[in-house]
Parts: sequence; structure tokens; C-alpha cells
Amino acid sequence: MKTIGLIGGMSWESTEFYYRQINEGIRDRLGGLHSAKILLYSVDFSPIEELQHAGDWDATGKILASAAQSLEAGGADFFLICTNTMHRVASSVTAAVEIPLLHIADATGEVMRADSIRRVGLLGTAFTMEQNFYKARINEHYGIEVLVPDSDDRKYVHDIIYHQLILGDVRSESKKIYLDVIDRLEQRGCQAIILGCTEICMLVGQKDTKIKLYDTTSIHAQLAVNRALD
Ligand code: GLU
Repeated sequence: MKTIGLIGGMSWESTEFYYRQINEGIRDRLGGLHSAKILLYSVDFSPIEELQHAGDWDATGKILASAAQSLEAGGADFFLICTNTMHRVASSVTAAVEIPLLHIADATGEVMRADSIRRVGLLGTAFTMEQNFYKARINEHYGIEVLVPDSDDRKYVHDIIYHQLILGDVRSESKKIYLDVIDRLEQRGCQAIILGCTEICMLVGQKDTKIKLYDTTSIHAQLAVNRALD
């Protein structure tokens, strides 16, 4: 079994899902007392959040590059960045190490392509919904059109992530807002929705809606299991 490197803490609420789901996946595949070999570098999210909102992505890239180097030095065979947003700096992080990154947009794109999805709605932070690093990758690499909510809805979705979910605060009124945003994306012709932020699974799940949801947290964790056992 290979050793999985995780850059987590963005937020730790969602890193907990990675840790659990990867271990459950290894147990289900290997049985008995097997569990995953994981190195976790969990960052302090507060300075990263400040740099994100200040637009200083270079500085965030340096923090994550240093974390990736620690994972490599510790013996990780490959690594994951346990957040969609921070794939904004994926290229500077991968440039700092030899071990490969399992990119969250590729993990999700592969699954959607296998399901023949042609048009998808994307929920995530404003950075993920509005900048091009994520949408363009899904569109160009997997031929899938990516729609985002309108600007008012993007603000609700973003604020609920940063002011509630990252703090572990899950509210029924926020769930209703998300489900309404999902409905509006479906009305615009989306066949499915990407939960493109690793905390959204705390708020909505497949049992809440008929439209197909792609939960990036569990897709990414599952890919790590498969790669560890390759
Ligand atoms: N976990 C979130 C994501 O998947 C947001 C936190 C962050 O900005 O990294 O995008």
C-alpha cells in the first residue's frame, strides 16, 4: 500500500471527512484491521484565508509548497490538497516536489465524464466559481460546460462557507438557500451539480435533492484509496 500525503486544515472540518473516508475505503477494500497509511500536514487556515481575500495567491502557494515538501520528505508517495479553492495554486505546489498531486478537478471530471455529463452547475467559494482555474480545467479537459450561480447566489454560497461551514456551523436556513440555488441551476439546464467545496457535504447531500450531486470530498478521498492500492 502506498502512503497518502494530505495537505489539510482548509478547513479541518472537511479534512476530518478525508481522514475517515480514506480509512473506511482501505478497510472496505482490504478488510480486517487494515487502515490507510496517511501523512497529514494540517495548516493554520486563518492566515491563508486572509491571503486569499487579499488576493495574495503567491504567498498561499509558498505555504502549501512547503507543506508538500514536508510530506515528500516524510515519505508520501503522492499527495492531495484537501480543498477545491487552493487548487488555484496547484501548479506552484507541484513545481516544488517530485511526488504527484491528485488534482480534485480531475478526480471529479473523470467521474462526470464516465457518467456522460455535458452541463454541470458549480457551487464553491467565490474564488472557485468566479476564477478560471477550476471551471476551465473541467471544460477543457473533460468537455463539460460549467455554469455558476448568479452574483447574489454566489455571494450567499460563499458567505455560508466562510462564516458557517468552516466553523462547523450547519444551519437549516442555509441548507434551504443552497437547495434553492441548486434548483435555479437545474432550471438553467444543468444535469448535475458539483459540490465544489469540501465543506458543502456537511450541508446538503444526495438525499436532499433529485438532481445528481458530485461531492468533491468523497470523490477525491475515493481516488486516494484507489491510488494507494494501485
Ligand atoms: N474547503 C473549501 C474548498 O474546497 C474552502 C476553504 C478554502 O478556501 O480552502 O474550496
